[in-house]
This record gives sequence, structure tokens and C-alpha cells, in this order.
Amino acid sequence: MQLLIVEDDKPLARSLQKALRGHGFAVNHVETGSAALEALAMERPDMMIIDLGLPDTDGLTLLRTIRRSTPDLPILLLTARDTVQDKVQGLNDGADDYLSKPFDMTELLARLRVMERRLSKSGNPVLAFGDLELDTMEQKVRYKGENVETSRREYMLLKSLIETPGRVLTRAALEGRLYSWDEEISSNAIEVHVHHLRRKLDNGLIRTIRGVGYQLSEPQHNTPEA
Ligand code: CA
Repeated sequence: MQLLIVEDDKPLARSLQKALRGHGFAVNHVETGSAALEALAMERPDMMIIDLGLPDTDGLTLLRTIRRSTPDLPILLLTARDTVQDKVQGLNDGADDYLSKPFDMTELLARLRVMERRLSKSGNPVLAFGDLELDTMEQKVRYKGENVETSRREYMLLKSLIETPGRVLTRAALEGRLYSWDEEISSNAIEVHVHHLRRKLDNGLIRTIRGVGYQLSEPQHNTPEA
């Protein structure tokens, strides 16, 4: 889950990044509205958090601009102002949710999880592919009914694949989902995660499409010939 934060309060942005990364989000951060639009033009995040008071523009103006091109991108507004009018205006302009500063990190996380669940079409917190199950509430992996311990990034990789069944995800796309811009990524990082996951799950579950990327596939079972 890639998150873009637009917030000019650096200490707040840093603590948000740290906390949210710890909860499995790849978090990128920009300080201005114009930087946010540039970032969006490069790569669309899965969700956004926008502060209302930005140095170069108003968060509501930015929200309206973004809504014109991406009506379905989940956006949570942050604000120091806590008036009913601001809240109503923000929601009218297309924000999915709204949080007043100061806020509790657990509350922000809960709101983000709700937006995340809305993203998956079924609204079901458990995603399944064959014998593989991902509980997105608990961030737990089960395979053939057994719990499987995964690292945070292994979990994110599986989640990216299970959300796009049948589609091949390129290494670059997966890197974007798993790592923030400022994180060092070794050239074989994704391969290493896949290697570890194959050892924990069925070898054939994650298929390599040579020169393209990865996809989930049902492992071939040896069924006796009729
Ligand atoms: Ca601000």
C-alpha cells in the first residue's frame, strides 16, 4: 500500500512516516501542493493524506485539482482547524475522510484501514487466492489453513499480488508498492522476497514471468488420470 503525505510540518510528517511504515505502508512525503501534483503525475499512490494548510496552496484547492483527474483515489484531509464548515467543505469537495490535529496515531490508522478496505471491491478484510489467505485487518498470512510468519515487506508483496489476480506485476511496480522513494533498494530486493516466500509457501504459488515480473498462480496438483 503506497501512501503519499502532503504536509509542510516536517516533524509531524517524519513521525507519520515512521509510524505508518511500521504498519506496512510504503510512505512518501512532499511538502507542497505543486510537489504533490508532480508526484501524482509520475506515479499514482494507493491513498493520500493532505494537510489543509500548505505553503503554496490550500489543501482544499489541491483536493479539487486531484479529484478532476483521479476521482477514486482515497484521500484523508488533515487540519489544524476544527470547524464543522471546514469538515463539510472537505467532504463536499471529495475527501473520503477528515481528521483534526492533534490526532491519535491509532485513530489515523483505523481511518486508513477503513479507506483501504473500501479499495478492495468486496469490502471483505480477508483476501484469498486458492489456499492462500491474507487477513488485512490483522495483517496475517494463512496458507492451507496454517499461519505463516512473514516480514512486513513479504506481506506487502503478497498483498500486491493477491489484489491483482491474474495480472503480472513488474519488478518496478512491486518496488513502488514496497519501498518509499528515499529507501535504498538493492537490485535483487524483490527477487529475494519472492525467494523467501516460496520457501514459506508452495514453490509454485508465485510464478516468475521471465523478463516481465511476477504473478500468483495455482500450484499444479498431481491429479491421477481418470
Ligand atoms: Ca500545514
